[in-house]
Amino acid sequence: MHVIFMGPQGAGKGTQATRIAERLDLVHVSTGELFRNAIKAKTPLGVMAKEILDRGDLVPDDITLGIVETRLEEIAASQSESGHARGALFDGFPRTPAQAKGLDELLERRGERLVTVIEITAPRDILVERLSGRRICPNCGATYHIDFSPPKIDSICDNCGHQVIQRADDTPEAIERRLSLYDEQTAPLLHYYRDRGLLQTVDGHRDVDIVSADLIRIIETSAKSIH
Ligand code: ADP
Ligand code: ADP
Ligand code: ZN
Repeated sequence: MHVIFMGPQGAGKGTQATRIAERLDLVHVSTGELFRNAIKAKTPLGVMAKEILDRGDLVPDDITLGIVETRLEEIAASQSESGHARGALFDGFPRTPAQAKGLDELLERRGERLVTVIEITAPRDILVERLSGRRICPNCGATYHIDFSPPKIDSICDNCGHQVIQRADDTPEAIERRLSLYDEQTAPLLHYYRDRGLLQTVDGHRDVDIVSADLIRIIETSAKSIH
């Protein structure tokens, strides 16, 4: 069983997925983080993706679908070894109609299914405020905010002690570009999932713990109803 978090940049998808994936026996799959790791490791994919990410553009659909397929294979392999993980929690994927269609085909082939798609929302001015103050740990992927959730010790990741940084694409220009791309290319997917009865919406403009509680409740209810 797989779950998708949708919603604009800054809605809190990554923050929430990091907090709740393990508790629900799901593997957090952030395509953005997979691309950032490839860039850091300077793999051929990373070299190709760097400029695209820095500009705030989207990586081509076939490449994105390819890394997702690889991740699903890895998850299935680790499942058969340890018996853990019920599926993936997708964060930031799919983002285009072609990716959504590609995911359906991939799941069909694999005999796997989506249990729910959750849209996390927040007002536009809040999104910009959150993204402008976002900091991440380049070592472990933890997310912070300079005002709303700063590290305990200034600029040092609580988890791993690494120095936190501002992402290269959290500049005002790239933030604007990404939010527009969301409206144009990704928001239409909400209809696609709503029509199939899979879409639920959660107000992300609330305390992090309250949002987490709502998400956990929805995922557990949806998972129960398919068995
Ligand atoms: P997304 O993955 O949807 O782009 P993030 O999880 O990276 O969003 O969150 C964007 C920024 O907003 C981060 O700096 C994060 O610390 C902050 N943030 C996330 N959720 C909340 C919340 N409920 N209240 C206040 N700030 C939040
Ligand atoms: P954000 O949600 O703030 O854009 P992410 O970490 O999810 O941050 O993604 C960072 C970047 O990685 C995106 O701007 C885009 O260039 C690329 N990316 C991530 N997911 C996808 C996807 N599903 N399709 C195409 N490009 C993607
Ligand atoms: Zn860290």
